[in-house]
Parts: sequence; C-alpha cells; structure tokens
Amino acid sequence: MAPSRARATCVPNRHRRTGTAMHPFRWTPAEGKRHATTDRRRLTRLYPVSEQIETLCGQSVEVAEPSELAWLWETCVSCNESAHLLAASES
Ligand SMILES: [Zn+2]
Repeated sequence: MAPSRARATCVPNRHRRTGTAMHPFRWTPAEGKRHATTDRRRLTRLYPVSEQIETLCGQSVEVAEPSELAWLWETCVSCNESAHLLAASES
C-alpha cells in the first residue's frame, strides 16, 4: 500500500516542474467527482464548502468537504480536458 503515491497519480498537473501552482484553475471535489474550477474563491484558497461554484465543464456544483476520500473520486473528463487546454495555452 502506498496511498501517497496513488494520490499523486490523481493530481496530474500538480507536480510538473514548470509553472507549479500558477495554473488559473484548481481541482475541487464536488458531487462525487473531481472538477476543475476557475472560481476566485478557490483560487484564493478560500474553500467554499457546500457553496455552488462554476466548473470548467460548465456545471454549477456544490463543493464537497476536501476529505482524503473526496480526492480519490474520479476526475471529471470534461474538466480534465479543459484543464489540459488551459495549462497548454499558458506556455
Ligand atoms: Zn467537471
């Protein structure tokens, strides 16, 4: 068992050497999936748990408690694609 390693594979952009933490979005556990959001409250590290935020896939979702379990939820495919596009457009 290597929980920290398993978790790292769920956060594909976080450990890149270039542009760390400079992406204009954050991953957010919400409604059973990990969505990415550009919501300002998330970007400024305020965690609006149980508030509605806009995700990159265009949904309005309720932010879940960022528990260990929540970070293991499956990644939203649409958000993942949008996040990659955003990250690519920065460089
Ligand atoms: Zn999404």
